[in-house]
Amino acid sequence: MGLKKKPVEEIKTEAARNAIIKLHKKFGKTISVNSCFGSSNIGQMSGFISREIVKEIPNAFMRCPIAIHPEVEGPVQVLLHDDYQVVIDGCKARCLAKSMEKAGIKVDLSYAIDEDFGVPKESTIEFDADKMKEITNKIIDDIKEKIIKMDKEAAISVEYEIKGDIIEKNFFMKLIQEFKNENVDIVDIHIQNTSLMGFWATQQPTVATFRIVSTMLKDLKDQEDKIEKLIEENGLILVEKKK
Ligand code: SF4
Repeated sequence: MGLKKKPVEEIKTEAARNAIIKLHKKFGKTISVNSCFGSSNIGQMSGFISREIVKEIPNAFMRCPIAIHPEVEGPVQVLLHDDYQVVIDGCKARCLAKSMEKAGIKVDLSYAIDEDFGVPKESTIEFDADKMKEITNKIIDDIKEKIIKMDKEAAISVEYEIKGDIIEKNFFMKLIQEFKNENVDIVDIHIQNTSLMGFWATQQPTVATFRIVSTMLKDLKDQEDKIEKLIEENGLILVEKKK
């Protein structure tokens, strides 16, 4: 059996319906990141790791997995509508991953702080903050490699519309050469109603759109600032920027 994801219109809880519609409209795909937040040093660390991850990856969200077994509809449906499930348990008992699997939820990435990162379990709520950061970064790298880079719809993007008397082809060449890197892609370049190749060969229209796609908020922000400078340096006008 297990829990079933309902079509949005069949979900009775209005707040859950609204959250699902809003987040998927904004981000395309979403990633659920949850922890057991148990009583030990590593149980506590697991909760803080999830907090740090969702601060860094904008389409990643902490949910309320404790709602799974009493089957509280709203929080359960929001979680089920996430496209990927990442679980961080404190110890090798992996209580949360097992709880989710028992409810029929596929867990895409599962971690136990002791087993996967070698931190011994201790009977205290205190933990090493530097170690927590180090593990956070490792899990973020994993999410990038195993989820976001494998599924471009799970990446985040900013869409630009620009205008100018003349938009030189050099602008797009620079854009691609300088701003495309391991974590950032420049996609969907459209110049009025013609293709990029047609534009280069024949004419110089005045309105263009393009998107920058990234796996990480920080990388996207860094590039956003530089791209706006490039637009200005080329005498172009930024008409609209949509996130
Ligand atoms: S996984 Fe370990 S730390 Fe987390 S709740 Fe279970 S026993 Fe506690």
